[in-house]
Amino acid sequence: MSLPSIPLTQRTWETEFCKKPIVYKAFNIGLQSILLQVSDKNTPAKDRIDAIRQIVGECIVNKDEIDVNELPSFVLELLFIKIRCISVSDEVRLNFKCTNEIGNKSCGTPIEVVIDLETVDINVDAEHKSVIDAGGFKLHLKYPTIQMAADLADLGDGVTAEHVIKEFLVYITQGEEVWQMSDFGNEEKLEWVQGLGLDVQIDIMKNFFVNLPSIKIVKEFKCVTCGYDHKLEFNNLNQVFM
Ligand SMILES: [Zn+2]
Repeated sequence: MSLPSIPLTQRTWETEFCKKPIVYKAFNIGLQSILLQVSDKNTPAKDRIDAIRQIVGECIVNKDEIDVNELPSFVLELLFIKIRCISVSDEVRLNFKCTNEIGNKSCGTPIEVVIDLETVDINVDAEHKSVIDAGGFKLHLKYPTIQMAADLADLGDGVTAEHVIKEFLVYITQGEEVWQMSDFGNEEKLEWVQGLGLDVQIDIMKNFFVNLPSIKIVKEFKCVTCGYDHKLEFNNLNQVFM
């Protein structure tokens, strides 16, 4: 007889950003060391991303329906938070020093900030859209995965409309007709992108790329020493653990 297998807490999350509901379970003890890499502030951003992806990948129950490597970065990050809530705690404690200047000196009072992870949600700008109209056609864009988001952050201001369209345009529709971008070669795609009007390129940059959805964590608190009102705001997990 083998030892009984004790089931871990399991939950389901339905989000408009995923075609299928995501079924996830709590961390097991085996993942503890990877978990420490996520919260260690000395972990380089790239390694933290890998650690988050690895943990979430292990905790997704319906792996046949949900591919961790295809999840939009903000879905992956919120899923990690949700998994942490059922495994460890729904709070995260951050150590912060008051940066308010009094005279010429920084106040410097150490403050422990407690963030309630149950309040974290995905923030979508009212103007945001992932389907762009272009002369009777509809361009359907996909969201960057956490790896793509990191690569884009490295590129900084060097990201062009051409680059975004090449990376994120999945298919084009007009009425019933569908063109899958994966059916075409790179050269053909590039030529097509270059033929797009400037207004379409601007629409894509302004209403898709610049205001991509993100997780949003906001915490307001007062310094007990100087009374300064602080407001912390995070849009991704790397900022939380930096
Ligand atoms: Zn202070």
